[in-house]
Amino acid sequence: MSERSIEARKKQLMKMFQRVIDPLGYKFNPDNELVDFIMEQEVKLEREAGAPFCPCQALPERREDRMKLVCPCIPYHRKHFDAMKACWCQLYVHKDITDTSQLEQIPITELE
Ligand code: SF4
Repeated sequence: MSERSIEARKKQLMKMFQRVIDPLGYKFNPDNELVDFIMEQEVKLEREAGAPFCPCQALPERREDRMKLVCPCIPYHRKHFDAMKACWCQLYVHKDITDTSQLEQIPITELE
């Protein structure tokens, strides 16, 4: 896969994802380097595994469970991510977040 095709797909996916996350109250993390890195992993996963799966979580065996990790997976993990004000990978953050250094991953078990 050429660098150019990775970049082009990254841009396409980001446009599509923006339309999904906006009404959910999320935006892309202001850390462009992080966004760039995660999006590149997603493009590679899409080529290898058939969908832009979450690069930060292990892919479950069952297809039904895997589909819950197609980015943006926010609708499936809304309560969890809203509590963290970010998705698990921090690719997306709540719209009101300006300082991402305060964000932290909270295991779902700590919220139950
Ligand atoms: S945790 Fe974030 S980056 Fe990972 S799939 Fe879900 S929304 Fe995408």
